[in-house]
Amino acid sequence: LLSTKELKPQTSNLTFKDVAGLDEAKVEITEFVEFLQKPEKFSQLGAQIPKGALLVGPPGTGKTLLAKAVAGESKVPFYSMSGSEFVEMVAGLGAKRVRKLFKSARENAPCIVFIDEIDAIGRKRADSGAMGRNEEREGTLNQLLVEMDGFEPATNVVYAPGRFDRTVDIGLPDIKGRADILKVHMKNIKMSKSMDEYAPRIAALTPGFSGADLANICNEAALIASRTQEASISMKHFEDAMDKVIGGLEKKNKVLS
Ligand code: ATP
Repeated sequence: LLSTKELKPQTSNLTFKDVAGLDEAKVEITEFVEFLQKPEKFSQLGAQIPKGALLVGPPGTGKTLLAKAVAGESKVPFYSMSGSEFVEMVAGLGAKRVRKLFKSARENAPCIVFIDEIDAIGRKRADSGAMGRNEEREGTLNQLLVEMDGFEPATNVVYAPGRFDRTVDIGLPDIKGRADILKVHMKNIKMSKSMDEYAPRIAALTPGFSGADLANICNEAALIASRTQEASISMKHFEDAMDKVIGGLEKKNKVLS
């Protein structure tokens, strides 16, 4: 039952260039990159090393991407695990998994431990008759806190999020942010006009869209064009792709409400 997947650190080739917009977040997170690259420089001066950053924001806004870019920029291993997975776990397994993950992380320090949806571990479910679940969550959370507190800064592990020295807000992109994100994803597709032509037009039509939605639009447009054997992607394909992605978002909202 205990998957070893998360015990193997990944290497990340992503850099800040792959993350469009989020300029303030990048500035805030640069401190972690500097530390991960040269931990001695900080510890020699007796500086308190920041241990954890809490990245807060709506789904699909680039939190995972940013954490991976920090790993890529710093050239350190990246561990990731999802808080929501623990909710489904058999008693005792969550805490055990956290212990194993951090043991491996310590052996490979400096590194990044990224915990997605950490709120799922902390949350208590009011509707839950299943006491076991809440206890399991508490056990997992306690183990996580023990691991985070027990880590001396000198062991060179940065948690994202951890016992948080920094909270980094990551919001939905504004029109310029959307155009920049579109350009990142337009690099990978073949279009009939330049990205300077398409990106601002699509950005103007997509208020409220996340980076993930915009990446989706680019991919959908390429799929639509390829279905009709087109040699390149045109505005019409992007329009159809936007309709498709908007349709998907509406469906998701209906399920939620
Ligand atoms: P979740 O909370 O759902 O886990 P997240 O904030 O971690 O979401 P990511 O997984 O980082 O979001 O983003 C999903 C995908 O959306 C990325 O892999 C990337 O393709 C695209 N994306 C999101 N934000 C950006 C951005 N700022 N620049 C470029 N691409 C982005």
